This record gives sequence, C-alpha cells and structure tokens, in this order.
Amino acid sequence: MMNLAEDVAAKSDDTASKNVIDNHFDVAIIGSGPAGYTASIYTSRAKLKTIIISGSLPGGQLMTTTDVENFPGFPNGITGPELMMNMQQQSERFGTKIEVDEVTSVDFKRRPFRIKTGSSEYLAKSVLISTGASPRKLGIKGESVFSGRGVSYCATCDGPFFRDQELLVVGGGDTALEEATFLTKFGKSVKVIHRRDKLRASKILQERAFENPKIEFIWNSAVVNIEGQNKVASVTIKNIKTGEETVLNAGGLFVAIGHEPNTALFKGQINLDERGYVIINNNTKTNIEGVFAAGDVHDHRYRQAITAAGFGCMAALDIEKWLSETKGK
Ligand code: NAP
Repeated sequence: MMNLAEDVAAKSDDTASKNVIDNHFDVAIIGSGPAGYTASIYTSRAKLKTIIISGSLPGGQLMTTTDVENFPGFPNGITGPELMMNMQQQSERFGTKIEVDEVTSVDFKRRPFRIKTGSSEYLAKSVLISTGASPRKLGIKGESVFSGRGVSYCATCDGPFFRDQELLVVGGGDTALEEATFLTKFGKSVKVIHRRDKLRASKILQERAFENPKIEFIWNSAVVNIEGQNKVASVTIKNIKTGEETVLNAGGLFVAIGHEPNTALFKGQINLDERGYVIINNNTKTNIEGVFAAGDVHDHRYRQAITAAGFGCMAALDIEKWLSETKGK
C-alpha cells in the first residue's frame, strides 16, 4: 500500500508523464497563415498528431486584408479573416490542436525537437516553420512613436480611418500602388513617394495608378522625418538627387516597402539567407533533418496566399514521407 507522499508523487509522476504525452506531437507547426493551416489539414488527415502554435494573433497577414479576389474557389471573393477562419475550422475538423501562443524558443539540436511558449513546452518529431513575414519598417525617427497614430503598414486595415485627409504612401512596388489606389476611396489626396524614378510594380497597377486623378507621384525621394503632436501632421521628405527637403502636410503615412521574414527565433539554429529567409534545400526541407519550412518565411518571390497554401501542402507531404521513413528518430 502506498503512503500519502508516495501516492502524491505517483500522481504527480502520472500528471508529468501525461503532460509529456499530451505535449508530444508528430508535427508541430509554428505559424498560422495559409501555409501552416494547409499543412495541418494534410498532416491531421494523415492521422499525424499535429499542433499549430499560432502566435498571439492567429491567421497571419490575411487577417489584415479586406477582399481576397484571387483565391480559387470563391467566385465572389472572400474577406481575409473569413478565409482564415474557414482554414482554421477545416484544420480543427481533422483534429489539429491549435495553441494561441507565441513561441519563445526552439531547440532543434536534438530530437524530439523542443518548442517553448510562454506557458508550455512541446516535443515534436518534426517541425514546420511557417511564421511568414512582416512589413518592413523605414527605420526613421518618429516611425515607432507614430505607429498606429498616423503611420500604418496596412492601408486595407486602416484606410477607412483617414477619410478626407492628405495621405502619403511610401514604396514603388505592387503593394504601394495597390494601397495608394485603395486609399483614394478615403483620402482627399494620395501622394506616392518613391526612392527612384521607376516603379517596380506591375504594368497594370502602374496604369491604374497613373490614370487615377487623386494619385500624385513624388520621385527620387525618401522620408526623413515624421512630425506631429499626438498624431502625424506632416512628413519631411528629401530629394535623393538634389538633397532638397520638403515638408508635406499629411494625416497618414502608409509604409509599403516590402516585407521581412519572421525568423529571429531560428537564427543560429537553421540556415537563413543574407536577408533572413529560411533556405530550403530539397523541396521544403531545411538544413536540419525533420525541420521543414513553407510560405513567406522562405518565399520572397511569389508571396501569395495560394502559393503559401501550396507550399504548406508540399511540406505536409514531405513531412509525412520523412516520418514514415525515419519514424522521427
Ligand atoms: P516589393 O516588390 O519588394 O517592393 C518594395 C518597394 O519598396 C520597392 O519599390 C522598393 O524600392 C521600395 N523600398 C524597399 N525598401 C525601401 C526603403 N528602405 N525605403 C524606401 N523604399 C523602399 O514589395 P511589395 O510591393 O510588398 O510586393 C512584394 C511581392 O508581392 C511582389 O512579388 C509583388 O508582385 C507581390 N504583390 C502582388 C500583388 C498583386 O499582384 N496584386 C499585390 C501586392 C504584392 P526599389 O524599387 O527602389 O527597390
């Protein structure tokens, strides 16, 4: 017969081992954009015990998008948040566990891999990195102070707050022109500030922007300062060629200068390229056996919801194959 102390110890051993079993997965997916959800639908359907650690705001970049018109299967379009909610439900239907938490550290040096969040530790035979990318910052004085007070990285999320104001968009790519065009629905005027005199954006978006009477282009210029009391009131730009500085009245400054991969967590553990994107060698495999990557975290070329979903599918199939061959050992 066990005494009380032994009984408590046994129970706590039971709880500890139950926790370990509960926290032990075939597949741990870090990130919950289209890549992560798609992968989880495949791995859960293949009866692999799968967890998504979604970050504190599940759904990724599409959560800040309005209409998605180019994701096949929705002839009348669908909003970004609705699309992501559908993906989440589809993933849960097959048994994926979804943990809304931030990963604080990973240990890829031994298997099973270890993934720590603020409150738990998970063990996984395989890991999919699908942490996506975040908008690039200008890195100038005032930018972080005025972020959310006139400085925005998402016109589709924040545009409606800037009715009848003078708006500035920085950048010369597809995003900048798409955002500038969208902002003309709300702003009094929209000026696009670009550091060169040639746009990187696709021809169709250029034509649309050039034809829009509310859009003006300011070439060869960089934003050097943001001014205001509690919110943005003006922005100083500098002509890169002449050095001349000009102050522009502005209620909003929309920064659309590309993205940076969310890979800080993995630095020193897996191979990243000089821009910080995960390097995949063979299909979706990283340099660490059992660690895979999918979506904007490695793909700086296509960056579409549908391509991220496609990479998620590919990663899931690669993971299934790898686990069946190695048993994760
Ligand atoms: P992007 O194509 O990388 O363009 C970034 C723009 O910001 C470039 O014009 C760049 O100038 C400028 N820039 C970069 N760093 C800067 C800095 N520190 N200061 C000032 N300007 C800076 O990024 P994106 O527009 O976000 O597009 C990314 C990808 O998504 C592309 O493949 C794009 O085709 C795709 N996309 C497609 C659609 C669509 O098809 N509807 C919509 C949005 C995005 P330079 O030109 O001088 O380098």
